[in-house]
Amino acid sequence: MRTYFALILFAAACGSSQTQSTGAAAPPPTPQQPDQSQPAPQQADDMPAAEAPTKPVKNSSLAAIGLDPDALDRNADPCDDFYQFACGGWIAKTQIDADKPMAMRSFIDIEERNYDYLHDLLDKAAKTKGDKLGAFYGSCMDAASISKAGLKPIQPTLATIAKIKDAKSLSAAITQMQVAGSNAVFGFGPTEDFADATKVIVGLGQSGLGLPDRDYYLDADKKPILDAYQNTVSELLVFAGHKADAAKQEAADVIGLETEIAKLWLDKVARRDPKRVYNKVDREGVEKLLPSFQWAPFWKAMGVTSKDVTIDSKEFFAGLEGLMKSTKPATWKNYLTAFAIIDNAPFLDEKVEDITFKLEQKLTGASEQRPRWKRCIDRTTTGLRDLVGQAFVRDRFPGASKTAAEEEVHAISAAMKANINTLAWMDATTKQKAQQKLDAMAYHIGYPEKWLTYSFKIDAKNWGANGLAARRAETVRQVAKIGKPRNREDWDIPASMVNAFYNPTHNKMVFPAGILQKPFYSVDNSVAVNLGAMGMVVGHELTHGFDDEGSQFDDVGNMKDWWQPETQKQFKQRTQCVVDQYSGYTIAGVKLNGALTQGENIADIGGVKLAFAAYKSLRASAPDTIVADGFTEDQQFFLSTGQAWCAKARPEFEKMLASVDPHSPAKWRINGSLSDTAEFAKAFRCKLGSKMRPQKACSVW
Ligand SMILES: [Zn+2]
Repeated sequence: MRTYFALILFAAACGSSQTQSTGAAAPPPTPQQPDQSQPAPQQADDMPAAEAPTKPVKNSSLAAIGLDPDALDRNADPCDDFYQFACGGWIAKTQIDADKPMAMRSFIDIEERNYDYLHDLLDKAAKTKGDKLGAFYGSCMDAASISKAGLKPIQPTLATIAKIKDAKSLSAAITQMQVAGSNAVFGFGPTEDFADATKVIVGLGQSGLGLPDRDYYLDADKKPILDAYQNTVSELLVFAGHKADAAKQEAADVIGLETEIAKLWLDKVARRDPKRVYNKVDREGVEKLLPSFQWAPFWKAMGVTSKDVTIDSKEFFAGLEGLMKSTKPATWKNYLTAFAIIDNAPFLDEKVEDITFKLEQKLTGASEQRPRWKRCIDRTTTGLRDLVGQAFVRDRFPGASKTAAEEEVHAISAAMKANINTLAWMDATTKQKAQQKLDAMAYHIGYPEKWLTYSFKIDAKNWGANGLAARRAETVRQVAKIGKPRNREDWDIPASMVNAFYNPTHNKMVFPAGILQKPFYSVDNSVAVNLGAMGMVVGHELTHGFDDEGSQFDDVGNMKDWWQPETQKQFKQRTQCVVDQYSGYTIAGVKLNGALTQGENIADIGGVKLAFAAYKSLRASAPDTIVADGFTEDQQFFLSTGQAWCAKARPEFEKMLASVDPHSPAKWRINGSLSDTAEFAKAFRCKLGSKMRPQKACSVW
């Protein structure tokens, strides 16, 4: 059940941006000097005058150090809206591609470049006889054969679903789907035992919804999306051979069942508390909560012998018992038919994705489907992850990148070490425990130590079979972890992925090669620029080890309270400050959920602070100071942070993210965290009381 704690830095579908200069930039102010029209900072501001450079100045340009001068909006006041100042030019000139929910200067542009590379690689591989990657990808691209096969790849599953008449046959259908890798009705997977994180046990959790969250079923203002989903279910049932008239009522019944399942879901804010989602009940416990489900055949079919089980919510499994008894077998049949088709859509006739895309459009605002080759790259990256990863690292991750990234990570870790010692609100005993956790933290950079191999059969002419075999192989690999000691070397994500993670039960950070690219990182960028962008991400992940969730796990990865009570009280007050701060922001007319996003916001505020300290220490012995187009090094650092998050999203997508994403939108990730950063206010000489230097700032780490 790693989904609870895979603290994803940023999750977005792929995308790219078009960058044409408007050429309409206003004359630049001289940013290294305060605006003379503003009153000088008051004494009470605790804001010293701009420091005169103590080192010889080396003049450079923004472009030369790795920043985009055209991305700036020089008409904006950096002390009023820094995000607009750093990104306004980019936002004005960028258009969102028709098949994407958003554009972004970092994640999505990097992903787009990675796609281009993989497209070339896999196209060539598909023309090479006997190449595993080529056969897998090539079979996915053969849309004509796939279309001919229709729903055939999942026919055995649909046949079992068609036989549902009682609890026993319903259990058999759910089990068959789970064996194939579908989280039908409930989630299944290996998880570390929070009480002893060195042990891997069975994790079972809530699942079973076709929409992203329970709110879509229960909130009146999300009704249009629920209606669109009901149409999708109806169309899919027709595609599966049901009569159109009957399918309408059947779909309504399916939505009725899903709404009941949604009511059983633990709310996403409650799920942030690891104590709430850790319920070690073992086999007998879950069997007692849900006795109508046939557990013995399930364990056997899954190949699980361990008796250690944790569930995320007792209420969910107890509630399923009621639904298994009260819901008509016909409704279960229709529900699982639709679920099986949606869940396996990547392996089926393209018409299925044409149907589901109409719902996706409502959720993201994208007007076109992504081209098939991109979808096939995703599927190949999922199915043969480490074969794709090895090629990517060979061609796109030169040796110097790993060493340089390691140097950054060490500088940021050292900054955290020094920072902990300066915290006035933390007592000595808790400080010592925090240091212990920091010392034990592992860093995985670039790619795994050991690559996975793939032994399932790949048929260049049968995509459905290949896709399902890959899925089954991954399920077998996951099940094999259960009952064994935790392996901290496990990656479970592609090396080409544009993302970064902190895993609290492993106490480790992971930075795949995919994210160590421009504009986050380049050997050609200046230190200030690399640390402002990639350094902030590293500091962000490190701070996750100490956010509202991470702070509840110790150096080993066990859920353990290592805090002295008084310090814990102080910590909670400080995190509450962050909750309140972000609850005051809105996006696309929707208020941010400060409680849901607190972990990410704490990580952003801490991350930028650590990265700034690391940049200062790395530049301390430099013989000169770089001034780029008039911007000081400190200003360059913050411009780099801002420009790494230049983004433009469709309002539909912004609304969806505001309701489900634990991250704040880009604008608030920048303006929120920097308005809490004293070094930022100093660099741009912001007056106390300005938006970027409010009277009340939050500080946790
Ligand atoms: Zn994060």
